[in-house]
Amino acid sequence: MINFNVPPYVDKALDYIQECVKNQKICGDGGYTRKCNEWIEKKTKTAKCLLTTSCTHATEMAALLCDIRQGDEVIMPSYTFVSTANAFVLRGAVPVFVDIRPDTMNIDENLIEAAVTERTRAIVPVHYAGVGCEMDKIMEVAAKYHLWVVEDAAQGIMATYKGRALGTIGDFGCFSFHETKNYSMGEGGALLIRDGKHIEAAEVIREKGTNRSKYYRGQIDKYTWVDQGSSYLPSDMNAAYLYAQLEVAEEINNARLANWKRYYENLAPLAQAGKIELPMVPEGCVHNGHMFYIKAAEIEERTALENYLKQNEVHAVFHYIPLHSATAGVKFSRFHGEDRYTTKESERLLRLPMYYRLTSDEVDYICDTVKRFYA
Ligand SMILES: *Cc1c(COP(=O)(O)O)cnc(C)c1O
Repeated sequence: MINFNVPPYVDKALDYIQECVKNQKICGDGGYTRKCNEWIEKKTKTAKCLLTTSCTHATEMAALLCDIRQGDEVIMPSYTFVSTANAFVLRGAVPVFVDIRPDTMNIDENLIEAAVTERTRAIVPVHYAGVGCEMDKIMEVAAKYHLWVVEDAAQGIMATYKGRALGTIGDFGCFSFHETKNYSMGEGGALLIRDGKHIEAAEVIREKGTNRSKYYRGQIDKYTWVDQGSSYLPSDMNAAYLYAQLEVAEEINNARLANWKRYYENLAPLAQAGKIELPMVPEGCVHNGHMFYIKAAEIEERTALENYLKQNEVHAVFHYIPLHSATAGVKFSRFHGEDRYTTKESERLLRLPMYYRLTSDEVDYICDTVKRFYA
């Protein structure tokens, strides 16, 4: 069976974790956490990166930093992971969904302004498949109505929009290092902060509402409760596991991009024949090979293709059930405007296996199997 995902792993991880254990430095904010933060800050050119226990938690931190309150509205796509919405629902806010673009599956930047009300506080673009949303337009709407922008860049590390790293354009950006993502620490994530003036507040929220980070840096001689907060910092062992991958980040990225390109070229004739649709990367966006998906004609064909692939030892999977049609979505959120593409396009989409060590022979075999299905 060719799995849909195999979590990234590099051998050095074991040495680094052993070092943490031997030195009894396994709590949060140790040497490896610092190295990961610095690596991400340098790579993305953002003011500050704080490693977190998940992307979900990074988004919760962003919701706290934006001071989201009961009854506030937050605009986002419905075609996303539950955490994008939950982080704000936990603060009592109402997710307001707008439709996606069928070509990228990202929020339709031209529908956002019409969804803005007196209660709107933030826009949360999700960079699906590591392909950037139309950030210029989103930032323009945000500036006009004084809204926060929190980028769900869970899938977006190493990808750029007009030369800027995803996650660094809005006020806050959230990365995921879950084992299904390009770089993994098992469970983990990061909060990216564009403007230095929010760093101290973020450090307090992440350290249980205390100023312990300042204390560790020797800036104060005792630490205390200063604001609301929680525990969002990961063990340094998880950071050690991640750091081993960041050291070879380019190699991992290039391997994924090579597989993505091989899929694309291999399947292009099927797309030209009108049998399937392939993903689109807009001009100005550099993606990271996070995902390779194809679109079948409709849901029945997709299910048949998925089953055919399974019979042929290939594990392909569909993706999000749009949040507005989920039980909690009905309860907590609303859809603004027409659902022209969100449901329809999500039902056609099928993700093919994609991971660091997927071989070119395997990609060729998967493409041949897809071609046989359509023959
Ligand atoms: C994976 C993912 C998340 C959640 O990441 P965790 O690190 O598991 O919390 C959130 N949003 C999107 C778009 C994702 O793909």
